[in-house]
Amino acid sequence: MHEELKKLIPEVKENEILAPYTTFKIGGPARYFFVAHTSDDVVKAVQAAKEYEIPFFVLGGASNILVSDKGFDGLVIVNKIQGFTAYAEGNRIFVTVGAGESWDETVARCVSQNWSGIECLSGIPGTVGATPVQNIGAYGQSVDAVIKEVRAIDSRTWTEAIFDREACQFGYRTSMFKKNSGHFIITQVTFALTPGGRPTLSYHDLKNYFTERPAPTLLEIRQAVIEIRARKGYVIMPGYESYQTAGSFFMNPIITQEQFQKLKPLIKECPDPWYWPLPDERVKVSAACLLQSAGFHKGYRKGNTGISLKHSLSLVNFGGASAQEVMAFAEEIKKRVQEKFGIALEEEVELVGF
Ligand SMILES: Cc1cc2nc3c(=O)[nH]c(=O)nc-3n(C[C@H](O)[C@H](O)[C@H](O)COP(=O)(O)OP(=O)(O)OC[C@H]3O[C@@H](n4cnc5c(N)ncnc54)[C@H](O)[C@@H]3O)c2cc1C
Repeated sequence: MHEELKKLIPEVKENEILAPYTTFKIGGPARYFFVAHTSDDVVKAVQAAKEYEIPFFVLGGASNILVSDKGFDGLVIVNKIQGFTAYAEGNRIFVTVGAGESWDETVARCVSQNWSGIECLSGIPGTVGATPVQNIGAYGQSVDAVIKEVRAIDSRTWTEAIFDREACQFGYRTSMFKKNSGHFIITQVTFALTPGGRPTLSYHDLKNYFTERPAPTLLEIRQAVIEIRARKGYVIMPGYESYQTAGSFFMNPIITQEQFQKLKPLIKECPDPWYWPLPDERVKVSAACLLQSAGFHKGYRKGNTGISLKHSLSLVNFGGASAQEVMAFAEEIKKRVQEKFGIALEEEVELVGF
């Protein structure tokens, strides 16, 4: 098999350990491993996988996944497609970026040009191509607000498709790409930014940061976001203390009014705000607050895994943790939160090879 696969993608590697690629630093080998630098590389790899009926998985910066200890028994395609171009039209600037570019470097580049729209998304690890997948969000912005279009290879037809914002079907930490995992390999994303636009200053942490200075620049917002994130152990950047983690392990659950009224008297120790009413009457609840209230405090340890010392929603590998250990701990958390509050937590982190 390997020799035949090699004929189609000569650069393919075999049994590549995935742990070092991931921010969790956990995970066994990929049976096959291929780095794609162009759309043609992606098509070639997907065709090869189809030809030999090998499952495949697309990897960006591996910052939102937990890979199983036995690894992934298929072909991992690492997306390294580069590129950055911009053109102005009307009062917008359209920035087209290769899927394999670093997201934070892209934000830095746009902020340095004084283009607003993504400044609050500073410091999020990973690649540009992954941003529409789970519709990343933080500090009052989410990426769907500025996505103009996404280009992707359709793995069933091997052709390129273009999706406008509506076709991406964005929701809270989800999109059409996430719901149809494996169907589309994103090659390029175009963002519609605003030259000289005002920064978004809506999130409580950021507002508090700028109480003395009401009109911060985009660069000041970026620096503030990174500083606030660093206090929570949520940046993986040179010069900052970082954890081996995939960030928030669970999504903030969205519950009905009825569930919320039952929950409210049970929550005693969470700092405000720990819930956010939604326009449809439902309520989004802080998963960090639920974990904390269920007894899983910052720094809680369970063998080699546990909760970050700086943020209760971040499960971390304190060194030498296995995927199995992390999963067992995550199950324990889910069970206790369900028993105490009747709320089912769902993983934000994607599980690979389980
Ligand atoms: C410390 C830390 C802080 C974080 N903070 C935030 C935060 O504030 N907000 C937030 O939303 N997220 C946050 N995250 C999660 C993560 O950084 C984002 O989800 C990020 O967009 C993942 O990018 P990635 O390139 O690492 O994707 P990966 O982890 O490699 O992949 C994630 C998913 O996207 C798919 N994918 C990746 N690239 C492509 C592609 N080109 N085409 C199709 N599918 C693709 C993968 O198959 C997988 O399903 C954080 C993570 C960490 C470790």
